[in-house]
Amino acid sequence: MLLKSSFYRILQGIAFLLTNSKKVRLTTKKNKEDYITDIATVLANIMLVGKEKTIKCQYYDTSTGFCTLLKFDVDVPTLHVANVDGVWRVKVDKHPEICVACPYWRSKYG
Ligand code: SF4
Repeated sequence: MLLKSSFYRILQGIAFLLTNSKKVRLTTKKNKEDYITDIATVLANIMLVGKEKTIKCQYYDTSTGFCTLLKFDVDVPTLHVANVDGVWRVKVDKHPEICVACPYWRSKYG
């Protein structure tokens, strides 16, 4: 399934970043703090942009917080999901990071 393979590609990307981050030399406390601040800034930006995309996507159900398009065949323990009619739907209002990279985003404004 396309969505499932996309999810695993994202996981592989995160694993790659985590693996390579160990290669960065963090010799001083200041280096470590700068590195953590940089990561936190990037994550905050991802969440901010993702939230904007979530609320403007035509597949976002504002009454439930779920995406009406994205679904999984299996429960994903790292996500807020609910089984709806035999598939697992993602509560994207809890996961703007999903929408930021979603290839299916479509504006609700046409
Ligand atoms: S951006 Fe993707 S995951 Fe987010 S609501 Fe739209 S279709 Fe669903």
